[in-house]
Amino acid sequence: MALSTEQKDKLQLAQDALGLKIRNELQKHRLQQAQVDSAAGDDAVADELSHDAVSQYLHEHGEWQALLRAKARLAENVADICIECGAEIPFARLEAEPTAERCIACQEALEAEQHRLHQHQHSSM
Ligand SMILES: [Zn+2]
Repeated sequence: MALSTEQKDKLQLAQDALGLKIRNELQKHRLQQAQVDSAAGDDAVADELSHDAVSQYLHEHGEWQALLRAKARLAENVADICIECGAEIPFARLEAEPTAERCIACQEALEAEQHRLHQHQHSSM
């Protein structure tokens, strides 16, 4: 079952709001980065700040990429189709998470796998 026009409009609004939020965050990080660059006298502090800013930036950037994919999926009318198994993604899930591209079963499987890998890394310590 494809999304209704009303649902697509809602999803597009949610994506636009998310896009604005991410853009604001990225803007902030660019400002932080500029401050770090100008404070290059103290290397230890600059490294620490820059590491935080960069990892945060990459996180936001990943969200941005996910948003671009979600927008393209909406434009192609496949926003509610799971990229893993092709099952329908419930609209409530898309509404809560406009960048969702997997059904709940596939998302849970992915998270379980990530959790397993994470546990494995830690158990070797
Ligand atoms: Zn799936």
